[in-house]
Amino acid sequence: MTGTASENAKQRYAASLMNAFGPPKLVLARGEGAYVWDVDGNRYLDLLGGIAVNALGHAHPALVGAVNDQLSTLGHVSNFFATEPQIALAERLLEMVSSRLGGVAGKGLGGVAGDGLGGVAGDGRVFFANSGTEANEAAFKLTRRTGRTHLVAMEGSFHGRSMGALALTAKAAYREPFEPLPGYVDFVPYGDADALAAAVTDDTAAVVVEPIQGEAGVVIPPPDFLPEARRICTEHGALLWLDEVQTGMGRTGAWLAHSASGVSPDIVTLAKGLAGGIPIGACIATGPSADLLQPGNHGTTFGGNPVAAAAALAVIDTIEKGDLLARAVDVGARLGAGLAERRVTGIRVAGLLIGIDLDADVAAKVVPAAQERGFIVNMCAPNRIRLAPPLILTDEQADLFLSAWPGILDAAYAAGEGARQ
Ligand code: PLP
Repeated sequence: MTGTASENAKQRYAASLMNAFGPPKLVLARGEGAYVWDVDGNRYLDLLGGIAVNALGHAHPALVGAVNDQLSTLGHVSNFFATEPQIALAERLLEMVSSRLGGVAGKGLGGVAGDGLGGVAGDGRVFFANSGTEANEAAFKLTRRTGRTHLVAMEGSFHGRSMGALALTAKAAYREPFEPLPGYVDFVPYGDADALAAAVTDDTAAVVVEPIQGEAGVVIPPPDFLPEARRICTEHGALLWLDEVQTGMGRTGAWLAHSASGVSPDIVTLAKGLAGGIPIGACIATGPSADLLQPGNHGTTFGGNPVAAAAALAVIDTIEKGDLLARAVDVGARLGAGLAERRVTGIRVAGLLIGIDLDADVAAKVVPAAQERGFIVNMCAPNRIRLAPPLILTDEQADLFLSAWPGILDAAYAAGEGARQ
């Protein structure tokens, strides 16, 4: 074979992997901190972090140590058995979210014991899965156990690609090839409390909302939207389900992005950054809804795997010890302030989840222009770029990108012009 190591690997990829993702942009060999290297030895500052996953960057010693220790002690057991890391992680997550879980007392759910939605803080329970999609699938099934089937989701939403998660995902291009999807889902404009109030009825099992829409381009709803969603759900005895798969675990500078709203959801789903790159998902429910899934209703071979749980515990500890929530806020603000450029029409900063709007559909050109200069960024719409770097990103690394940013835009716009001619 001739060609570079990357070219050769890309050919082998094309010949051996399903074309579900299109051609890979890079073939990566290793990572350290906020940097990754491709198989040709080129270095890139990773400002995407495995799509909001690598909270501690790459090869963080705390994560590597926890995984190694657990794997060399007990790697997998199935859910016929329990393990200490699994229980400890569930307790830790409940502790983390307990001040946020427990909905306002409401009408109660059909068929569920209890005098209202959401219970006393700390009374939740966790179901562990292996991805965000699976965490949402568990939540979806949980809502069916209320005895109600109607769900309300948001326009612009993304909840995953299984048939259930897809049923809640708005994008027509993702949905239409796979219809019919599990039904009785209505979509309302994101952030529109009046539309939500009109859509939710006493037949509604749950309203599913991302506190910030990550895939849509870091779209932040008006501040009263989540409180209004809580009020509407409570009024109709529906569950408020917050999908924090992308926004949770410190990504926005808080453990959970909805914290600032003061709202207590009935269900929270987590994944992505939870174990810093080891596959995991979690569906957390409280009050009566925590008891909706009973033996035989749901399951998974790998969910709650001790290695994934140990990894998550290490991630949480490291974020705490390193004060990385504050770091996410500081370095996010630094990036946000420096990204304003002539062609930038909007910047939305939520810790280290950042959306950048451009005045033309050149995001597809920004990605390679950044890559050529040693930076990994993501296009989430034709005119939108998203950054979701590791929470360990330093000021110097942020500044490195900021100094390259005008040149990246110049190159992208020049390439965009070229493409139009
Ligand atoms: N929910 C949200 C909000 C997401 O952003 C994603 C992935 O981007 C998912 C669910 C699906 O998660 P996964 O890709 O781990 O299945």
